[in-house]
Amino acid sequence: MYYQTIRGYVRAVDDVSFKVGKEDALGLAGESGCGKTSSALTILRLLPWNARIIDGSITLDGEDLVKMRDKDIRKKIRWKRISMVFQGAMNALHPTYSVGKQITEAILLHEDVDSKEAVERTEKLLELVGIEAEKINRFPHELSGGMKQRVVTAMALACNPDIVIADEPTTALDVIVQAQVLKVMKELQSKLKLSWILITHDLSMITETCNRLAIMYAGKVAEYGDLAAIYKEPLHPYTERLLSAFPSIVGPKSELSSIPGFPPDLLVPPPGCRFHPRCPKAMDICRKKEPVPVKAKKDHEVICHLYT
Ligand code: SF4
Repeated sequence: MYYQTIRGYVRAVDDVSFKVGKEDALGLAGESGCGKTSSALTILRLLPWNARIIDGSITLDGEDLVKMRDKDIRKKIRWKRISMVFQGAMNALHPTYSVGKQITEAILLHEDVDSKEAVERTEKLLELVGIEAEKINRFPHELSGGMKQRVVTAMALACNPDIVIADEPTTALDVIVQAQVLKVMKELQSKLKLSWILITHDLSMITETCNRLAIMYAGKVAEYGDLAAIYKEPLHPYTERLLSAFPSIVGPKSELSSIPGFPPDLLVPPPGCRFHPRCPKAMDICRKKEPVPVKAKKDHEVICHLYT
């Protein structure tokens, strides 16, 4: 998926490939601007006017969402099969409608139910995420940040989706509230047998909630597979640097490392491997030839010339 601009195409999501199985929780991690949110918006086809899906497929139960008509995506997929918890719960809610009304509206728009049933379902959803049903008529400004985050999570669950995409669901929350929200998410996953795609740059959040991981860099997947395998033995130099830039509360204290430089401009991405200008292990071939995915181990894939 590229964004068309007057200066050319911004290659925001380029050859990205991953799978989410039933009850899987896939973490999408990487620096800001590496294509995480754009990938999620592409799955739901919630793209701005200048976005173009150039090629590829997004398959849900054998059906290609790329080929589906807009009206079918709206009617059959969004919210009913795949829903999204948008970035910044504080701003995702309408300030002049009660939270209950906002959840009820999602149910009424997508399902063939009357308002009484929609209200009952909204009350149950609020209770499911740990908010008393009597708060159904509260306005967003009457709730704390953590509660608003739970409300947008309840809203994403309104039509019993199979997959929920959560985009930075705990940004702007303090650590205690973050832990509470993560706990709710984990409980919901096992209770409702949901699949999650969790977008974050906080790797500790992914270890808490996910079983699979895709590390993205500059619009591409750099490493992908089983979360424990990648943590135990990160293969891509970018993943190694990301993990070593994260403090650990166990073991001896060590200096945190950082990754020098910035992600590239995706209007004119570097030739070869997009990470080569920042990679401490870059070789000649990295500047010329784009690496292809290599299956390093069962359920662990890396896209780097070091392994070809
Ligand atoms: Fe580094 Fe080359 Fe691997 Fe890219 S392909 S991550 S530049 S070693």
